[in-house]
Amino acid sequence: MNYMSKALASELLKASEICKHHVEEEGGLILNRGDEFVFVPVQNIYKGTPTAAGLYETEQSDFTGRVFPLLKEGWKFYASFHTHPSFSPNPSGLDLNVLFQGFKHNYIYAPKPETFSYTTWGVEGQFTQYFNRNTLYAIQ
Ligand SMILES: [Zn+2]
Repeated sequence: MNYMSKALASELLKASEICKHHVEEEGGLILNRGDEFVFVPVQNIYKGTPTAAGLYETEQSDFTGRVFPLLKEGWKFYASFHTHPSFSPNPSGLDLNVLFQGFKHNYIYAPKPETFSYTTWGVEGQFTQYFNRNTLYAIQ
């Protein structure tokens, strides 16, 4: 795993605790300002539908309402975050081609194996690493 600060580790743990629906994928954004990180939950556009079991996409008005005020306070986009309650933390094709576009850092949390995936973009394209939830407890 790449270097991870205590502040980021604790926000990732918080995100995994907030987004704990057993069936539907949930998520949001991680913003940063200097050394600070904050997880901002954003509703899944598919919330309440069967599609939410396999797909997370940010609901636009919830996104605007929650994230824009923070951008005005100097926070910047850092990472995308969403859960895979029923699947492994492997990014799907849609994750890679749609959701992750525009984010340098992308995290997925899968509660069943209690494992996060981290996907970023290098010179040879995207690559993904995996780490256990316990790793974050040790860091924070
Ligand atoms: Zn996904």
